[in-house]
Amino acid sequence: MKTDVLIIGGGLSGLHTAYSLHRDTSPDTGTHVTLIEARNRLGGRILSRSGPNSDGSAYDLGPTWFWPGQHRMEALVRTLELEREIFEQPSAGEALYENDSGAVLRGLGGASMAGSYRLDGGLAKIIRALAEQLPDDTVQLRTRATHITQHGDRLHTTIHRDGHDSIINSARIVIALPPRLAVNSISLSPDLPTQARDLLQHTATWMAGSAKLVALYDEPFWRKDGLSGDAISYRGPLGEIHDASPRTNGPAALFGFVSVPPDIRRNQEDALKEAALAQLEKLFGHQAAHPRDVYVKDWAFDNLTATAADQEPQITHPAPWSGAAPEISWEGRLMWSGSETAEGGLRNTGYLEGALEASERTVHQLAKDGVGSAPS
Ligand SMILES: Cc1cc2nc3c(=O)[nH]c(=O)nc-3n(C[C@H](O)[C@H](O)[C@H](O)COP(=O)(O)OP(=O)(O)OC[C@H]3O[C@@H](n4cnc5c(N)ncnc54)[C@H](O)[C@@H]3O)c2cc1C
Repeated sequence: MKTDVLIIGGGLSGLHTAYSLHRDTSPDTGTHVTLIEARNRLGGRILSRSGPNSDGSAYDLGPTWFWPGQHRMEALVRTLELEREIFEQPSAGEALYENDSGAVLRGLGGASMAGSYRLDGGLAKIIRALAEQLPDDTVQLRTRATHITQHGDRLHTTIHRDGHDSIINSARIVIALPPRLAVNSISLSPDLPTQARDLLQHTATWMAGSAKLVALYDEPFWRKDGLSGDAISYRGPLGEIHDASPRTNGPAALFGFVSVPPDIRRNQEDALKEAALAQLEKLFGHQAAHPRDVYVKDWAFDNLTATAADQEPQITHPAPWSGAAPEISWEGRLMWSGSETAEGGLRNTGYLEGALEASERTVHQLAKDGVGSAPS
């Protein structure tokens, strides 16, 4: 199969790149874009799980928030006519603090995510809205890139689908996945110089080692007790807890980031749920012990997000990307995209806003090179 631009990865970044190229390309230039995605769904780290009723409620098991001033996210939500779904993270009431010996204190401070934006019905609404605008033949799900070979000015990507390998021949490749994951799972011929591989390997994937637990309840009972649903715990197993209730329909919810390290929580989902519910009961009262349902997503063991290196705790936010060196781009034909390649700094690199920044940079470069949209 032949295409002009092959996008590897159907997370926010890759999907936005496909959407932008399709939107900006005039039918006369006829740039052909193909996006391959290894999972059987689009969205990557964006994952919204539907609630138990058919009421449109959904609970984010990957990213939850974007922030005022993240102008790309704000603009995209407006363009996709989803702005009515934006609401502020519920934050009225007191937060709780659990120290490492288990003592619970309240009234020490406000909600850490007050003012953050959420999307009612989950962030996957953005993914669905972007995908709906693409021509039917753009996206290939369950299709994994395994190898890329340079052949003069063309690139040959070996893809694996339904147990078979085949080749996609393209002029450009957009690698819209975390650089560390790419360098660990897609082999390149010619191989990258050691220094370039090291740079990619050391670009940590934001939140890849994390796990999230969401507990669904008939009502947000903690609010009656003057609590916001926020808690910080140095005891665990949930280290940071927030209200995850939808704005409109659907069961109320609390969610927590799991603070137990990946090597200890591996294959321990039942024990983790039990310990998390005991902790929620201790913090928020006996109703917390009886959720309607509990959803868990452990990203650390999802090999389409995390690598072995991501099992290490990540304590600092990712540094802005500085990897656009010629030796890793094969004279510009191999384009490193994805949120971890954003250069915009804090609250960009590794975040949803960074996925859009990287996509914007990639689309602009393709236009400059005369591939894709017209230069602006
Ligand atoms: C638990 C958690 C909480 C987070 N919270 C927030 C938050 O509140 N706010 C925020 O801004 N950000 C948050 N983030 C980060 C945010 O999710 C990411 O910045 C963003 O989703 C990255 O998008 P991306 O397209 O760059 O990468 P990804 O979403 O990782 O997409 C990469 C895609 O490539 C696919 N893929 C992988 N390998 C291959 C292959 N070989 N062939 C084909 N396809 C492949 C994957 O399946 C995936 O779909 C959070 C992340 C997690 C995990």
